[in-house]
Amino acid sequence: MIDLKKLTIEKAHQSLLNGEFTCRELTAAYLEAIDKKNPELNAYLEIFNDALLQADLADKKFKDKTATLLTGIPFAIKDNILIQGNIASAGSKILENYKASYDATVIKDLKKAGVVFLGRTNMDEFAMGSSTQTSAYGVTRNPIDTSRVPGGSSGGSAAALAGDIALAALGTETCGSVREPSAFCGLVGLKPTYGAVSRHGIIAMGNSLDQVSPFGKDVRDTEIIFDLLSRHDEEDSTSVPEDLRKVTNKTNSKKIGVPWHLFSEGVDKEVAENFKESIEKLKKAGYEIVDIEIPYSKYSLAAYYIIMPAEVSTNLARFDGIRYGFSSPGKDLMEVYKSSRAKGFGKEARRRILLGTYVLSHGYYDAYYNKAIKVREKIKAEIMTAFQNVDYILTPTVPMTAFKLGEKMDNPVSMYLCDIFSAPANLSGVPSIALPSGRSTEGLPFSIQFMAPHFREDLLFEIGKKFEEIQ
Ligand code: GLN
Repeated sequence: MIDLKKLTIEKAHQSLLNGEFTCRELTAAYLEAIDKKNPELNAYLEIFNDALLQADLADKKFKDKTATLLTGIPFAIKDNILIQGNIASAGSKILENYKASYDATVIKDLKKAGVVFLGRTNMDEFAMGSSTQTSAYGVTRNPIDTSRVPGGSSGGSAAALAGDIALAALGTETCGSVREPSAFCGLVGLKPTYGAVSRHGIIAMGNSLDQVSPFGKDVRDTEIIFDLLSRHDEEDSTSVPEDLRKVTNKTNSKKIGVPWHLFSEGVDKEVAENFKESIEKLKKAGYEIVDIEIPYSKYSLAAYYIIMPAEVSTNLARFDGIRYGFSSPGKDLMEVYKSSRAKGFGKEARRRILLGTYVLSHGYYDAYYNKAIKVREKIKAEIMTAFQNVDYILTPTVPMTAFKLGEKMDNPVSMYLCDIFSAPANLSGVPSIALPSGRSTEGLPFSIQFMAPHFREDLLFEIGKKFEEIQ
């Protein structure tokens, strides 16, 4: 019996090298665990029937001595990342039967490394949500407490990893969708610098914000995945060329800024206490903690909820009952559009299409959209200014711990508040890592997050590993 709970990517790799088990045996162990646990968790929407064949190919690489760290590692993939020949539904009825005609760049890279794709995971419809409750395919449960949500929108990937029915997982972030579920499920989640990892082959939500983002059981695992995926890709016009990624190497990376003023938006008491304890641990480990002010960041959610729906409304225009996916018949073209979109999209997707169409409409464009774009620039500028003085910005990842299934569904604004600390990194494009920081008396995970300057994921891995040591 392989002890799946104890495995990390590096440990599994070592065991595969030593011949303690094969890729096929490892994949088979996960498939067995999936059979047992997935009916309750609903982390996966589909298990790929070629998983064992993929594992055989990986075993061959070990025999040929061409295996690398990720060869044979069983992955869970969010349902909005294209894998050629497989369905990618983005958690929506409108794409229920849509089969991808090509591989996303991240999938191509993972295939080259010889990973095993176990299946595609549940998510909020088109990645809109913070709890994986807006999926057309039912809710996903948090493996730590199955009466609670796993977070979202990448909740299926988080639940798969935390429930030991995958060894690694990919999600996507537009605003917190990997860091927040990492926090709720006790995982590490990395939102890379915008432009570091290719978006080619990702079903778009808000293009100027979307980023493929890895989950890991520990910091090293997210680092391994990031190192493989981070590269320039000509297929994505927003992918940053290698020569523009160069960063100056700082000698001192010990100064952490905390924007306490952001706490005024409301943080649960136990989350605030855990945050203070984490700060004390960092101080003891030799870090200098200073107060910083990033005043415009308090408007980041307001700006996000204008920019994102604007992009959503244009991105989702292509789902019209003619070109892609679900189609509902009608007497003329307009009726096909209307009824396909009305029946194919869920409530949250429809809400955001309406909002986005409104903020982009003639007469409101300047009042809303253009203003939000200006606020976004201010936020980016103040964060870059803050980084002239500090190496990291530290906040809690989410103002609360995992909430109960069904909660917040009738109050979208309280759901949106889950992202209060995530939004500044997404809007400014800087990288951010969510790290487990202990458990509540109820046994629910706490989490803190660090932001670093653009392309300084290395700093996040460095402090992340240090924080793991001092837990
Ligand atoms: N909670 C965010 C939203 O609802 C999550 C978006 C995301 O990161 N995909 O928009």
